[in-house]
Amino acid sequence: MTESNRILVVGAGFSGAVIARELADSGRQVLVIDKRDHVAGNAYDFTNEIGIRIHKYGPHLFHTSNQKVVDWLSTFTEWTPYQHKVKALLGDGRLVTLPVNKETTEIVGKENVLDIFFRPYTKKMWGIELEQIDRDIINRVPIRDDMNELYFPNDTFQALPTNGYTRTVENILNHENIEFRASTAFDRSMEAGFDHIFNSMPIDEYFEYRFDRLPYRSIKFHTSNLPIPRVLPVATVNFTHSEPYTRVTEWKNLPGHGLCASHTTVTVEEPCSDIDNNFERYYPVKDSDGRNLQTLQKYKAIENPKMTFIGRCGLYAYLDMHQAINSALTVAARFIETAK
Ligand SMILES: Cc1cc2nc3c(=O)[nH]c(=O)nc-3n(C[C@H](O)[C@H](O)[C@H](O)COP(=O)(O)OP(=O)(O)OC[C@H]3O[C@@H](n4cnc5c(N)ncnc54)[C@H](O)[C@@H]3O)c2cc1C
Repeated sequence: MTESNRILVVGAGFSGAVIARELADSGRQVLVIDKRDHVAGNAYDFTNEIGIRIHKYGPHLFHTSNQKVVDWLSTFTEWTPYQHKVKALLGDGRLVTLPVNKETTEIVGKENVLDIFFRPYTKKMWGIELEQIDRDIINRVPIRDDMNELYFPNDTFQALPTNGYTRTVENILNHENIEFRASTAFDRSMEAGFDHIFNSMPIDEYFEYRFDRLPYRSIKFHTSNLPIPRVLPVATVNFTHSEPYTRVTEWKNLPGHGLCASHTTVTVEEPCSDIDNNFERYYPVKDSDGRNLQTLQKYKAIENPKMTFIGRCGLYAYLDMHQAINSALTVAARFIETAK
């Protein structure tokens, strides 16, 4: 490939991969780079040494009501139906349903819901007190007044890609007009060789932090193989204690994630600042005074017609996979239309 009249996509997560595919299908030559040694971004999964598939950056559950996204993705994967259920471990050892439903409320008492499920979680997850958090984040976790046990009760489509997210993204990138280079970090000197760049790197990092740094929460994942067939009744159990750990996932409880008869693999999550985790940026921080959004606006206001920021870190937005894919499809369609 020559380096002229071409598209550079920075980041091989869903955002970058979807844009790359759409532009490749429209006849453009696309180079996709990722600083990691794999595709699929934070949705990356792999099979471990005992034959269990784990998601390296935490459990990824695909759920959406957006049929356009399902149809698009279904070209690249088959699906295994799965409806996620989460339990919370109470101090007395009982397990109750999350998000809080009627049964959970009856067990713990309505007046205790905030203190048991939200206060310690907020402190651990966001590193701040409940009162300091943006109300949107609290409101995103509904309290149900029925007995529904599903974690995503409203989404019409819930399933896991049968052969995993990594394979799905590999299939998306498998196109004669796409070249993928792993372990390749973006460098400004690359810009000159391309007509347009779709960039999922952190927007503040691209602009060398000329305004404030945009903070993120990160997670340290502690994974172990245990010499017992199974430990949890569901895939994920959240902790309500004040220890630093938020939840544990037992991977073989996700369908198609391995059948090892003697052992199981679990991952415990410990949230922290991205600064304390090698700048692994997972969750944009919505502060209650809106300072981070103001900083973001300053970065977004910088004119750069050759560059479109995409994805969780490019947009500094909490995007689930279906939202990242939908947004990427929209961005690609607009680009193709404008270039006509
Ligand atoms: C812990 C966790 C759990 C999640 N659980 C779910 C879930 O259950 N369901 C759901 O729908 N979504 C979930 N998500 C969100 C999901 O991961 C994202 O929606 C999806 O990965 C979005 O992809 P992206 O391409 O925008 O970003 P990413 O997946 O972050 O991909 C960006 C890529 O860009 C690369 N990159 C960054 N900087 C550079 C650079 N300078 N040079 C080269 N490459 C660079 C990164 O290495 C990365 O691979 C979760 C996210 C996290 C962090």
